[in-house]
Amino acid sequence: MKTPFHVMLIPTLGCPSRCRYCWSSDVNSPRMSIDTIKDVVAWMKDLKDNQVTFTFHGGEPLLAGADFYREALPLLAEGLPHLDPAFAIQTNLWLMTPEIADVLAEYNIPVGSSIDGPKEINDLQRGEGYFDKTLKGYKIAREQGLDVRFICTFTSESVERKEDIFRFFLDNGLTLKLHPALPSLKASEPEKYALAPEKFGELLVYLLDMALEHFGEIEIMNINDLCRCVFTRHGNVCTFADCMGSTFAIGPDGSIYPCYRFVGMPEWVMGNVADKPSIEELMSSGAGRKMLAFKDYVDKNCGGCAHIRYCRGGCPYNAIAPSGGEICGVDPHCPAYKRIFDEINDRLNTEMFEAPAVDMYAFSSKRKKKSGPGVMSLIQDMAFNRF
Ligand code: SF4
Ligand code: SF4
Repeated sequence: MKTPFHVMLIPTLGCPSRCRYCWSSDVNSPRMSIDTIKDVVAWMKDLKDNQVTFTFHGGEPLLAGADFYREALPLLAEGLPHLDPAFAIQTNLWLMTPEIADVLAEYNIPVGSSIDGPKEINDLQRGEGYFDKTLKGYKIAREQGLDVRFICTFTSESVERKEDIFRFFLDNGLTLKLHPALPSLKASEPEKYALAPEKFGELLVYLLDMALEHFGEIEIMNINDLCRCVFTRHGNVCTFADCMGSTFAIGPDGSIYPCYRFVGMPEWVMGNVADKPSIEELMSSGAGRKMLAFKDYVDKNCGGCAHIRYCRGGCPYNAIAPSGGEICGVDPHCPAYKRIFDEINDRLNTEMFEAPAVDMYAFSSKRKKKSGPGVMSLIQDMAFNRF
């Protein structure tokens, strides 16, 4: 099976919001021109032949405006038909208008947005007024038939209110995808809001319990992904797969980076779409070599870990960006990954060990009392595409 090809398009690093823990926005960022989109199409024509997903990310991608999407989407879709492009967008929705929503709906684009829980918790982290502006955009997006899901960033502070946050998503019928706050490399106190690995691990186990307790009532995307990784022994989200060479991000000026997380950091530029670099040329750039060196480091240093096949050392950005590219370790979230992977493995083994091959007590009064849903139930549920 070919590795999915993912290209993130960053129309600008600008953003109208001022979230306290943000590490990527830049008020002086330029905007991507349609000429850069044409360069992307020309660059990708002969680059690869596997299906591609384009994700518009930022900063805030809706700052590019309706006209940008009205021109960019047909250029990408019709210019690269052999790559069967799919699209996605990650936005805070503040600038959503019926006009933009219409364009996105035409291409059936799923929308990822961000909300950190109930208004009081969200606005404390993301700024006064954020919650209402996002919900206003959400309503517009839904009215045009767009599918919207929210990422919830847990910080060192909000993790202490995890029950309230989970209840908010459950009560409002929202899918939950969690994101641990990362150290902000631009802030004077980079670690202030970052979620410590131990807390992240506890949070994942808590959400696994909640996913089982409220089975069928809520989808917790990370828990599903983690269970699927363990069951298939294969990473199926970028954090737990080797993303190098199969994921790239294009900054507003056409610069190519290993992922959106590096955009705006000149030392991580791999090339520019205007020069049509090959994958080999990109991977032999300084940034490309660092990404590949991380892969080798993981092979050597995680070799004894039971989870290496479906963890792959976690996210290279988390591991090497804070040290300026020097590889001093794997993703600092390693203890959290170990904790939840151990937990899922243990529960799966227990469930499989306890499940009789043939239900010997099916017609007997000794029939075992039916226990609640387990990890296998989540996996079966995914297989039947219930969510
Ligand atoms: S650097 Fe991290 S976030 Fe970016 S694609 Fe790779 S694993 Fe995903
Ligand atoms: S859990 Fe930690 S040691 Fe194991 S593969 Fe992942 S990063 Fe490496």
